[in-house]
Amino acid sequence: MEKKRIAIIGAGAAGCFAAAELTATAPQAEVHVFERLSRPLAKLLLTGGGRCNLTNSFAEVRSLESVYPRGHRLMRRLFHRFDHRAAMAWFEREGVALVVQDDQCVFPRSQRAQQVADALLAKMRRHGVRLHLGRRLEDIRPAEAGYWLTFAAQSAPLHFDAVVVTTGGSPRASGLDFLSSLGVARVAPVPSLFSVVVDDAELRALSGTVVEEATVRLSGTKLKAEGALLLTHLGLSGPAMLRLSAHAARYLAERDYRAEVAVNWLGAQGEEETLSLLSGLARENAGKQLANVWPSALNRRLWLYLLQSLSLRPTERWSSLSPKTLRRLAARLTNHALPMTGRNPFKEEFVTCGGVALSEINAETLEHKKHPALFFAGEVLDVDAVTGGFNLQAAWTMGAVVAQALGRGV
Ligand SMILES: Cc1cc2nc3c(=O)[nH]c(=O)nc-3n(C[C@H](O)[C@H](O)[C@H](O)COP(=O)(O)OP(=O)(O)OC[C@H]3O[C@@H](n4cnc5c(N)ncnc54)[C@H](O)[C@@H]3O)c2cc1C
Repeated sequence: MEKKRIAIIGAGAAGCFAAAELTATAPQAEVHVFERLSRPLAKLLLTGGGRCNLTNSFAEVRSLESVYPRGHRLMRRLFHRFDHRAAMAWFEREGVALVVQDDQCVFPRSQRAQQVADALLAKMRRHGVRLHLGRRLEDIRPAEAGYWLTFAAQSAPLHFDAVVVTTGGSPRASGLDFLSSLGVARVAPVPSLFSVVVDDAELRALSGTVVEEATVRLSGTKLKAEGALLLTHLGLSGPAMLRLSAHAARYLAERDYRAEVAVNWLGAQGEEETLSLLSGLARENAGKQLANVWPSALNRRLWLYLLQSLSLRPTERWSSLSPKTLRRLAARLTNHALPMTGRNPFKEEFVTCGGVALSEINAETLEHKKHPALFFAGEVLDVDAVTGGFNLQAAWTMGAVVAQALGRGV
């Protein structure tokens, strides 16, 4: 019997994982991976600052919605098939020892993304997966059975019995033009996971300051995120801001990244609690200057900036603060409205919100509902996560689920 031919488009995390898994689920198939770049897994090597935060223990995840702003329902179903435990066991079996950090992010013990890439590529090589580099897909057309694929700078289309599209996120809608002949519905892409520009020169002068536990909200919405906040030369970044940008990706895009960010510099502490903290400091340090006593969650530079923002002199004594001033200070610490005027102009966006619409995809197999034997996995779908290893976990899970489905059908 002739071998079934499977094409995977994109040698990224999802594509390579699907290929590696197909060697077990469909060992009789002929698997080809096509990558437009001259090397595979280029983005994976950049992940986690080159260390690759390949998944998360999920121990501190209260709801999947909090980590997957788009696609949490789909991920809930798919995790029954292949979750973070399965991914961790998979990589350990392939010789990648892992560590779970205190923040629950999972990294290779070697702290090298290259080791993760090598494990995937070694498995693909051992089992005869054919990797074609420098091959950009331009068009997919249905054949009587399967599909004809046309690649750039190649005249004759190639025939495959099944196709898995794993081309990743594309900030430009044109990145998915190769799907045009099939009429696959797409959700317009916008960036997610970005830092923001704040129109406040004094705040930006604090660049490098980290507030370990802050809460950031978008005024007038219910959108908020907690975690470490980093002040940069442009404005706000760090896990809390990136998380907020993910949840608010579309809201902010529609408003051209102009909004009001309300920061609680003390995390989840409310105004009343903060008022009693400040009253306590005032009582115990009555004769001391404001510049010399401040809430322990802040550093001195940030404290001086906050005092200045309320026109309070650092040389003033704590005893001179009226109850009204103490309340203004408590409000500033817990609800500081800052004008967002844009997103980081540098192309640092980590993931794309949007992509192939989930309504068109079979949630059990990731096969297109109207186009049999055409599968999608990874960021090309309208699924994305906050930072912490959740995006790569989605790529492993979806790659595994497609390989399982193809193993049953091929
Ligand atoms: C700097 C950075 C750091 C990150 N760090 C982390 C992290 O630590 N943890 C985490 O979970 N996530 C991280 N992410 C997100 C994560 O890398 C992605 O979510 C993940 O790589 C998505 O996998 P994918 O296979 O869907 O897409 P990709 O990894 O982007 O792979 C898609 C592949 O398809 C190829 N391709 C595209 N179009 C075509 C075409 N027409 N023909 C042929 N090939 C094509 C691309 O060249 C690419 O190689 C990071 C992202 C960035 C940018």
